[in-house]
Amino acid sequence: PFRLSQRARSLKPSATVAVSSRALELRRAGVDVISMSVGEPDFDTPPHVKAAAIQAIESGKTKYTAVNGIAELREAISAKFARENGLEYAPDAVTVTSGGKQALFNAFFALLNPGDEVLIPAPYWVSYPEMVALTGAVPIPVPTTPESGFILDPGEVEARVTPRTRMIVLNSPGNPTGAVFPPEVLEAVARMAQRHNLVIVTDEMYEHLVYDAEQVSIGRYAPEHTLTVNGASKAYAMTGWRIGYAGGPKAVIAAMNAFQSQSTSNASSVSQYAALAALTQHEETARFIEMARRAYRERRDRIVEGLNALGLPTPTPQGAFYVMAQTSRLHPDELEAARRLLDEARVAVVPGTDFAAPGQVRLSYATSLEQIGEVLRRIGKMLAD
Ligand code: PLP
Repeated sequence: PFRLSQRARSLKPSATVAVSSRALELRRAGVDVISMSVGEPDFDTPPHVKAAAIQAIESGKTKYTAVNGIAELREAISAKFARENGLEYAPDAVTVTSGGKQALFNAFFALLNPGDEVLIPAPYWVSYPEMVALTGAVPIPVPTTPESGFILDPGEVEARVTPRTRMIVLNSPGNPTGAVFPPEVLEAVARMAQRHNLVIVTDEMYEHLVYDAEQVSIGRYAPEHTLTVNGASKAYAMTGWRIGYAGGPKAVIAAMNAFQSQSTSNASSVSQYAALAALTQHEETARFIEMARRAYRERRDRIVEGLNALGLPTPTPQGAFYVMAQTSRLHPDELEAARRLLDEARVAVVPGTDFAAPGQVRLSYATSLEQIGEVLRRIGKMLAD
């Protein structure tokens, strides 16, 4: 009787599972594998955030909340959008979700019909095309290249617009590329969205992790076309708390709330109070972000320099905590290159296959400088042997 639905069967199995299962297998066999594949900060959640959660538990803030989140948090998010992003979203134009992922999921389901086309810069975070396809809409990749630092060319976007194009998804700073799109690129994309009447969904989860570039929210250029998604996971080292949020036109936010009301109801009450502390205790939060940013920057410099010196060309990303290394020196096929790194150097990376990044692997540097040094040493030894 358990015949899987067409939707379940349409979910693309990850090409990278083979490599990650092999990493697990090796670990279980006692082999010391260093993982450079995780997509989360290695820092602990800051103490003022934890304290607010403990306080929430002790004072009984442990019940259902409003679907769109507690009013204090929506007010704090509205103030954050104004203060940090120059965006005007009233508290009732904001919704709180179970992670950035659910905000994106709700947004796609609220806005897309089967057959709609959605432009997605590639290499992309794998969940965008998968979520878009679940709605019946069609993901259309817009390629970017390592040579240009994966910066989007607005002309390449416009060249793919058809009468069925409905949306463009942006992610800057980006996973997996670390690219930060400059203001002039964002402005050009915003003007294009206005010309063709497209929706822009912008995922700004990594906004605070920017090194030598300027991070600008595209919503400043085309507020009437933009839905802005963000969250607590990457900014405040809160991946496990599951807090995301979005700001956008009230009718869209209301539709997203309707989806949420029939699925998860509301984000965890305790986590909402924790996120409230992150968004309102500015001094402590700013100190944490600055500490993290400095650490990531030093690690980025170390890993980029090291990989390039080993003959694995790696552009210097301006944001997030990932690098994309070109692996033709190891194998023409990135899956095989990743397998070699695992088997011969005992370093786990993510092959670019699922990100539409052929010939490249992604390494996360959300790990210590010592580990990065050891990874470079292992790869160097493998290449020398
Ligand atoms: N957006 C991007 C680009 C991500 O890399 C991730 C997490 O890996 C998310 C969204 C999901 O964030 P959350 O953990 O808040 O659902």
